[in-house]
Amino acid sequence: MTERPRVLLLHTGGTLAMRRGPDGSYAPAAGALAAELEALPELRRAPLPEVELLEFEPLLDSSDMRPEDWQRVAEALVERLPGVAGAVVLHGTDTMAYTAAALSFLLEGLDRPVILTGSQIPLVEVRSDGRENLITALLLACEPRLREVALYMNGRLLRGNRSTKVSSFGFDAFDSPNLPALAEVGVEVVWRDELLLPGVPGPVRAARLRHVSVVALRLFPGITGATLRQVLRDPVRGLVLETYGSGNAPSRDADLLAALAEASARGVVIVNVTQCLRGTVRMDAYAAGRGLLEAGVVSGGDMTAEAALTKLSVLLSQDLDPAAVGARMAVDLAGERSAEPSALVST
Ligand code: ASP
Repeated sequence: MTERPRVLLLHTGGTLAMRRGPDGSYAPAAGALAAELEALPELRRAPLPEVELLEFEPLLDSSDMRPEDWQRVAEALVERLPGVAGAVVLHGTDTMAYTAAALSFLLEGLDRPVILTGSQIPLVEVRSDGRENLITALLLACEPRLREVALYMNGRLLRGNRSTKVSSFGFDAFDSPNLPALAEVGVEVVWRDELLLPGVPGPVRAARLRHVSVVALRLFPGITGATLRQVLRDPVRGLVLETYGSGNAPSRDADLLAALAEASARGVVIVNVTQCLRGTVRMDAYAAGRGLLEAGVVSGGDMTAEAALTKLSVLLSQDLDPAAVGARMAVDLAGERSAEPSALVST
């Protein structure tokens, strides 16, 4: 009999193993997952790997996740990954895209799969989507061709730092709007090998996150320079600015652009991502974008807001000056952004 590979199952919380409390609402329950895994006989035989379960204490609804939890997950992975083929991180869907992106920037020397998954309905419920998500994620975590952080839900394996939650209702809770799925899981698993990252020689290590204040702000019609100055006050060191369309902001309000220019002159790194689900930032496309460029704002290209925020947090934790952080934000570090288009579509 051939030996089954081992996969780490790191349980951080989330709906998949939640139970209903006395008021009827779902909450994480310590020990519930182990009991539910016992009830799945398919987990005890090939082709499924042997599961090494590690349960976090406390288990969290992912709305409660903080940057220090990303660090704990990264460190647990660094400790256990050398002994397993790959890892599945069970996580709530609400902030799964943030944790997936954070792990992609924190884990250095990653040479095997790390797959985040969860569900919209708990395993204990008859209509749960958890069983399929868990079982497929465990199988994909044995795939040596995958050497990056990915997210699996509802038949699609997405790059972690390209993912965003798009539905609180459907089983297809996630999308990767600017990159096709790495694999589609149907009757067969169809891989897009040309998209997979080559991996970095191990052993895996975790970068250190420091307590840096990074904020995200979505522009809205009527926003003023005064509001921006409030948001950008000390100790804020980074801002992910969610702008309109191809990276535009109001240009007839000089005070708004002045507030951004003042902050970037003080060393706050301001990164421009679009509010649109698809597409990229081109600050030279419109006069309304050029003002941001002149205020020292850095283009986030086609990064998701989640990727931009976590990348900024990781880079600001390193001993880099603001100009170097800005320059690194513009570079693809872990497959999170595409090459800039070379010319405008129309002139
Ligand atoms: N609130 C839950 C969480 O993010 C939702 C889910 O898991 O789908 O933990």
